[in-house]
Amino acid sequence: MDTHCPYCALQCATTLTPGGPSGVTVAPRDFPTNRGGLCRKGWTAPAVLAAPDRLTTPLVRSAGELRPTSWEHALDVVARGIADAQQKGGADAVGVFGGGGLTNEKAYLLGKFARVALGTSQLDYNGRFCMSSAAAAGLRAFGLDRGLPFPLADLGGADVVLLAGANPAETMPPLLAHLTTAQLVVVDPRRSATAQLAVDRGGMHLQPAPGTDLAVALGLLHVVFTEGWWDRDYVLERTRGVEEVRQAAAAWWPERVERVTGVGVGDLRRAAAALGAARRDGAGVYVLTGRGVEQHANGTATTSAFINLALALGLPGNPGRGYGCLTGQGNGQGGREHGQKSDQLPGYRRIDDPAARAHVAEVWGVPADSLPGPGRTAYELLDALGTPAGPRALLVFGSNPVVSAPRAAHVEERLSALDLLVVADVVPSETARLADVVLPVTQWAEEDGTMTNLEGRVLRRRRAVPPPDGVRSDLEVLRGLAERLGQPAERFPTDPSEVYDELRAASAGGVADYRGIEWARLDAGEALYWPCPDRTHPGTPRMFTERFAHPDGLARFVPVEFTPPDATSADYPLYATVGRTLAQYQSGAQTRRVPELTAAEPGTYVEVHPDTAALAGLADGDLARVVARNGATRATVRTDARMRQDTVFLPFHFPGEERANLLTDPRLDPVSRMPELKLCPVRLEPLAGE
Ligand code: SF4
Repeated sequence: MDTHCPYCALQCATTLTPGGPSGVTVAPRDFPTNRGGLCRKGWTAPAVLAAPDRLTTPLVRSAGELRPTSWEHALDVVARGIADAQQKGGADAVGVFGGGGLTNEKAYLLGKFARVALGTSQLDYNGRFCMSSAAAAGLRAFGLDRGLPFPLADLGGADVVLLAGANPAETMPPLLAHLTTAQLVVVDPRRSATAQLAVDRGGMHLQPAPGTDLAVALGLLHVVFTEGWWDRDYVLERTRGVEEVRQAAAAWWPERVERVTGVGVGDLRRAAAALGAARRDGAGVYVLTGRGVEQHANGTATTSAFINLALALGLPGNPGRGYGCLTGQGNGQGGREHGQKSDQLPGYRRIDDPAARAHVAEVWGVPADSLPGPGRTAYELLDALGTPAGPRALLVFGSNPVVSAPRAAHVEERLSALDLLVVADVVPSETARLADVVLPVTQWAEEDGTMTNLEGRVLRRRRAVPPPDGVRSDLEVLRGLAERLGQPAERFPTDPSEVYDELRAASAGGVADYRGIEWARLDAGEALYWPCPDRTHPGTPRMFTERFAHPDGLARFVPVEFTPPDATSADYPLYATVGRTLAQYQSGAQTRRVPELTAAEPGTYVEVHPDTAALAGLADGDLARVVARNGATRATVRTDARMRQDTVFLPFHFPGEERANLLTDPRLDPVSRMPELKLCPVRLEPLAGE
């Protein structure tokens, strides 16, 4: 059965064959994105199907313990809890927290359930912690956000690729098959695997102090403008607002950038020259951003700065060139298009747009004025749980915020303060263990549906094995609850193809228009990228070739200012940055259950320069306490002389006292509401007695 990997946004193509201890074996399939490649997470994904602690029975907490029960009883308990909470606190007393790994159908029906069956505005999802800054910056610059507005395979023709805060060598290794000939320029405070690859291949690694990447972008812009490497004709014909940005960049001469960021004048000039010369010579140039620059309290501004650079070089919408964001989660793209985001309705429409509300309400068969307005964003929602003004009940689908949310101990406390916490998941995640009701649901190889990859291409997920007895699909769960809340059953279909057809109708006329992307076309092998407004439309693999999505067709330079990062101090002299590793995925709820992956990466480590470790009385292999203002975590020391001496890195995939997110900072970006996940002042201490 042909399907796709359950994990990241590359959505590598696979074929599943019956057999093996998990019920299926996996083999990579040749596909334009993964070109026959898979990373070790993809190879071992079937193990999660047969995880020893796979949830197969609904659980309801009684006398302090989660105890097995029937589906009917579990759904009754949830419906009663919802009714109680809303009777006491109104519609917004119930919140919903979704996930960027849910299929398009689940994301869509979850949004509809929240707005129609619950009538709540309190809906958001973990994608807010993933690519929301890039989405906000893309909207401002281009008038719409699609991670890559061109097929990934276009990168195969690149001569120079700037990767700002992106580490595909670890997070999506098959992507490197598209970058074999390009000169790589990597901007990252850490010598990541991708940065090392760039250096090994004669490219460049610009290694700024954490939180100063925006100044690097301004410095690159400065050189590009002053050396005359910008694409004047493109800028005049296809953009607006260059003057203000040019003036701001004028103040970022390379010596100043070096003082602020630590990136040497020569390196900055060489990087700008590589981009500028390639642009001038008509070569293929791309700027790609990732979580490193996006997951900041100024992530939208930082991403905008790199988009400004791409616009000055004349890249977006130019064949063989471009700007894109490497979306992270499996359906990070589709997850943000179908209405599980607090401020959006299906079709990637704004929830405060009267025309969008009227259209979607008509598809849903409800009055437009019955739809709630925008609600709290992800962290704000989690932070408000159980407070007098916040939700008293929360339904979580496809997310594990106890591990993946910033300031994790506080989030755990807020979840524990709820009258009702309901978690639908495939395994007993750390969040599920806190729940009052746990609902066991199907997972990737057990279900049909669609995912939208990082290119905006819609892919079919196909059922290869039956789910274990006792498990229901998320769609069945939503219908079961909706019926108990007085909704007509037919308003909440359980057949994914039926949900998808409704999704297409709801998306009609929106930015992400799926009308013409029928399952039959996907099953026939058509490569369909949104927007695709009708069944004869070929889809849109390359966007912005003629015009951008702003009403005047022009892209926008967005002026941004550098704000110095939160300062270190005598108590917290180092910067911690958190991220992903090759062998684990997101909160690790799935991958920590795969023996090969756990053997490869068993727990949290802190990557640190050996001199920095020695100053703290630590050596390679020691156990350390990493202490921040918000809390402390435990990690094994890994020394690496390529690290900056002021910076440490921790992966965030591990639970309990090893959670890297016990450290992180919930300060939010003013536009995207992204938390500050990539910069946190800390100190290291030996862990006494361990
Ligand atoms: Fe491909 Fe990502 Fe799955 Fe790895 S995790 S196999 S890169 S889709």
